[in-house]
Amino acid sequence: MITFLSGGTGTPKLLRGMQRVMDRHEISVIVNTAEDIWISGNHISPDLDTVMYLFAGILDSDTWWGIRNDSFTTHEEITRLGTNEFITIGDRDRAVHIARGDMLRNGMRLTNATKILCDRFGVRENILPMTDTEVTTQIKTDLGLIHFQEYWVRAKGNIVIREVVRSFHEPPVATEEGLAMIEASDAVVIGPSNPITSISPILCCEGLKSAVKDKLVIAISPFIGNNPISGPAGALMEAAGFEPSSLGTFNCYEGISDIFVQDVRDPVEVKNSVRFDTIMSDEEKSIALAREILSLI
Ligand code: GDP
Repeated sequence: MITFLSGGTGTPKLLRGMQRVMDRHEISVIVNTAEDIWISGNHISPDLDTVMYLFAGILDSDTWWGIRNDSFTTHEEITRLGTNEFITIGDRDRAVHIARGDMLRNGMRLTNATKILCDRFGVRENILPMTDTEVTTQIKTDLGLIHFQEYWVRAKGNIVIREVVRSFHEPPVATEEGLAMIEASDAVVIGPSNPITSISPILCCEGLKSAVKDKLVIAISPFIGNNPISGPAGALMEAAGFEPSSLGTFNCYEGISDIFVQDVRDPVEVKNSVRFDTIMSDEEKSIALAREILSLI
């Protein structure tokens, strides 16, 4: 078994390849939930949803969020009624958020709600949230603290970041199921996700870092030069005090990763790194990188 630590774009692209070259029951994923948000009364967990939809074979892989060919009738109607729903939510996608919101309101752990939804979608891989309590990545701007989704989706990242803040009522703790999964794994793979908003929240869950300590940990960079392949990782890395590059990513995972993978095109030198073609522009390229990563284990 291999445990992957995942956000909602870079690592899912790797998982798209892994599901073709591994026994699907041997794939375990611990997913970031610090971007979760309640919208229009329902619970959106963007990264959990992307990973679940990917394995269910229904992900919109043009955007890496939402369900392929979904309709938007409810979103259009509640927008017309004056509700400011700043995330465009598809109808089938919303059904998942309604179901999960109900389960959580009834006191169910997010771990169990995720398991129920995955079973309904026929997912064979093991998907777990990083923790069962609420953690939120917030962005400190000149106008105050805003949710990461407001920064990235509503403001399209066009706001100067003063600081990245993680807020919670109680310090997040890794789940028993997640720790057991790591214990049973031959390796842990930190996929090419955003180090600040996707991977750090997972690593900060109590018990996680010590669980991966005795495991082979492979980390893959989401950067080439000073630019991420996509998304706001550059600005977030700088705000968190890291160089926006593979070197900054390596430093972010210092003491955690045993093998660091960067792209063959990357002009930045990270000592002792392994070089592969990490741009997963289609499924074949995801499969090729998945094979390379497995060859390290
Ligand atoms: P988010 O939750 O949507 O922010 O997604 P992740 O954190 O999982 O992934 C975002 C990161 O994925 C970005 O920093 C991108 O640079 C990286 N990324 C996206 N596609 C690729 C790819 O094909 N290869 C690599 N190496 N990184 C990628």
